[in-house]
Amino acid sequence: MARVDLDGKPIEPMTICMIGAGGFIGSHLCEKLMAETPHRVLALDVYSDKIRHLLEPESLPWAGRIQFHRLNIKHDSRLEGLIKMADLTINLAAICTPADYNTRPLDTIYSNFIDALPVVKYCSENNKRLIHFSTCEVYGKTIGSFLPKDSPLREDPAYYLLKEDASPCIFGSIEKQRWSYACAKQLIERLIYAEGAENGLEFTIVRPFNWIGPRMDFIPGIDGPSEGVPRVLACFSNALLRREQLKLVDGGQSQRTFIYIKDAIEAVLLMIENPQRANGQIFNVGNPNNEVTVRQLAEMMTQIYSKVSEEAALDVPTIDVSSKEFYGEGYDDSDKRIPDMTIINRQLGWNPKTSLWDLLEATLTYQHRTYAEAIKKAVSRPVASS
Ligand code: NAD
Ligand code: UDP
Repeated sequence: MARVDLDGKPIEPMTICMIGAGGFIGSHLCEKLMAETPHRVLALDVYSDKIRHLLEPESLPWAGRIQFHRLNIKHDSRLEGLIKMADLTINLAAICTPADYNTRPLDTIYSNFIDALPVVKYCSENNKRLIHFSTCEVYGKTIGSFLPKDSPLREDPAYYLLKEDASPCIFGSIEKQRWSYACAKQLIERLIYAEGAENGLEFTIVRPFNWIGPRMDFIPGIDGPSEGVPRVLACFSNALLRREQLKLVDGGQSQRTFIYIKDAIEAVLLMIENPQRANGQIFNVGNPNNEVTVRQLAEMMTQIYSKVSEEAALDVPTIDVSSKEFYGEGYDDSDKRIPDMTIINRQLGWNPKTSLWDLLEATLTYQHRTYAEAIKKAVSRPVASS
């Protein structure tokens, strides 16, 4: 049976130029496109480890529909040609790990603004559609965070719910370099919006709210640098796998809403296949029902990991650390992130499905299966004497 869009029209196979296809989100999006659609993917990245299972062996049912191009978009003359060959470009490439924002602010700003500029320009000049990945971090802090702690207004959604077309973007001062990422993302959003308004660029901007699941980031010392600091999911998984305490930054009081990567990918596929409904839109993509403090996340992950690994949890599973100690000078934090879902509901009729418990159980089962043995071996290996 022919696949149809939300308005009942047949979906024509298309070619997608996916930049950053080898990362966490890209790997899941490629998997979905290969397994469930007839679309072709030109997959661009400097790494391919997370999509190797889609590229080899050549007998895979989708071989011929996915082509990997190892390139760095900072300096590669093939970029414009690849964008021209495609009907749609999806840009996921970015430095997007908070530990980098205050320690490598220049790289962060270049990656999220300067390196994205040619992509926008080539799409605009060649009349190609663009889906650009921004971030929920463009909202920064909530209005409510500036109210007194005991103010009843803090309970009013008007002071914390994040709306694409109404909420302000509130960042800290310039020496709080944490905001280098959010600010670069905001500026590229504004540029894309202006290209749409002045030059007719067909664009969609995605603001992910803490998408998590298998293949997110890396486990330090196993498939990433031993001194590296990934995002919170991998930090906590790493500690659980090593039977170490989970570090709570500044008391773990910040709040996040986590969404299962597979739910979020459904939303992206709807955007890809319904251009009439997605063009010109900025979409929050998150799960407002899955809100927890970081402390609660640590408690849930500890409990679930104990179930999955069949090992008792540590007596004191968490430890408090200051943000200065953990991230260094210039760190700051978003206090609370709840997405308003009105626009994505109206345009795409999409809603997330998976509860926080279920998505953590699925993810920790994967982490345990993938890493537990490697960590045991790494820990038991004798340290070389100097
Ligand atoms: P990721 O780090 O796993 O993936 C990014 C990929 O881009 C990596 O594979 C990296 O190698 C590639 N890349 C970076 N610079 C490149 C360059 N110059 N040339 C070629 N490839 C390059 O991150 P992710 O979680 O998959 O995020 C993808 C996008 O979504 C990013 O733009 C990020 O800012 C945004 N985002 C993600 C989340 C989330 O919850 N995961 C939240 C907010 C925003
Ligand atoms: N965090 C923490 N311990 C860690 C890693 C992160 O308490 O080991 C906190 C971090 O300070 C932030 C939240 O967890 O409040 C989410 O951090 P993440 O790196 O996932 O990215 P963010 O949601 O801030 O973009």
